[in-house]
Amino acid sequence: MGAAALTGKSFRASNGRVTGMFRAVLALLTFIVVFAGIECRPACAADQVKALDYKMAGDAKRVRIVMNFDNEPEPKWFLLRAPHRFVIDLPGSSLALKAEDLAPRGLVKSVRYGASGEGDSRLIVTAKGPFNVEKVDILANEEGNGYRLVADLVAATERDFEAALAVQSETTASTTTTKTDRLDAVPANRPFTIVIDPGHGGVDGGAEGLNGTVEKEITLAFSKELKTKLEANSTYKVYLTREDDQFLRLDDRVRMARQHTADLFISVHADTIRLKGIRGATVYTVSDKASDAEAQALADRENLSDQLAGVAVVEENHEVSDILVDLIKRETHGFSTRFARSLVEELSPTVGMINNPHRSAGFRVLKAPDVPSVLVELGYLSNAKDEEQLRSADWREKAATSIAKAVAAFVAERRAAGG
Ligand SMILES: [Zn+2]
Repeated sequence: MGAAALTGKSFRASNGRVTGMFRAVLALLTFIVVFAGIECRPACAADQVKALDYKMAGDAKRVRIVMNFDNEPEPKWFLLRAPHRFVIDLPGSSLALKAEDLAPRGLVKSVRYGASGEGDSRLIVTAKGPFNVEKVDILANEEGNGYRLVADLVAATERDFEAALAVQSETTASTTTTKTDRLDAVPANRPFTIVIDPGHGGVDGGAEGLNGTVEKEITLAFSKELKTKLEANSTYKVYLTREDDQFLRLDDRVRMARQHTADLFISVHADTIRLKGIRGATVYTVSDKASDAEAQALADRENLSDQLAGVAVVEENHEVSDILVDLIKRETHGFSTRFARSLVEELSPTVGMINNPHRSAGFRVLKAPDVPSVLVELGYLSNAKDEEQLRSADWREKAATSIAKAVAAFVAERRAAGG
């Protein structure tokens, strides 16, 4: 398989530069893609790769990690913030490392590891501050005895670390294959589930237009039209969070998306803005900034294992749970961003859009950790022309067609990821 061809290849990033990190992430991607086709992964006990040791050398500026394996490992690494962590997933591997080898050293505050699923292992290196992953190599040992993993971590600025995280969430979103079964590629033989959320309802009328259009009515009408449009594709399952003039809490909407195990959640709105001249559609994804605190709050509110059904939470402690939520949220965010871009692409030629039409904010309704979610503001009811458009069945038909095209592109990508 492709595995041998990669032996000894070096994924080197230049020091501290975003471009360098980008290259490193691309290399990682290539790596993951090459390994994606390997069969008989984690489950084959006979093929288990064993880590024989762990060594770490260096100081506060730079640390090298070396691990020896009896067979070729297939690591996938990624970064987590708060605290700054370097995580190596080793599918089909078992680790039995000496506690004294894991003692903190230089830049590294702690090293932990554990099983992350059936036959899989995860190593978590927590740093004292932000760092760059300068390289992660898998090399064949010269004497022909197994392989070694060499990783170099170099102290960096917070900005560098954040930049690497941003690149990571953009580029590895669909290929990181940790225990996040919910977000694995969508097989072609199972329906693709879309939940459409007509904004507002009941006592909450939402915005009101200059000529009396009420947001909750527009969102419901449009959502029903969009549902019909999408249902033309028999491989989709489409649900509405409400079918009539009913009040729903934001949490309820999120919960419904999750109950339907939605592959995509689209919240439909048409709000107002003080500047009456502003018009056009906008696509929102949830902002990255609030992610960790929100993940924690979500974990506190609901039963985490129910919530993340299908995810193997191995250790009974908050640290691991937090890592899994982080990981899933990052994947979800990557998918949400892709869909948002696809939406902007399809809506731009047919429907007027605002400047910088893809924006992000802390919308509670978009915070399902495992459902790619976007909020579409169809237009502004505070703008007379937008209000007129929103009342036009022809315009709504055009907008629904564009959204359906964007959904089709997204579905094709998600199914193609399944090979
Ligand atoms: Zn609204």
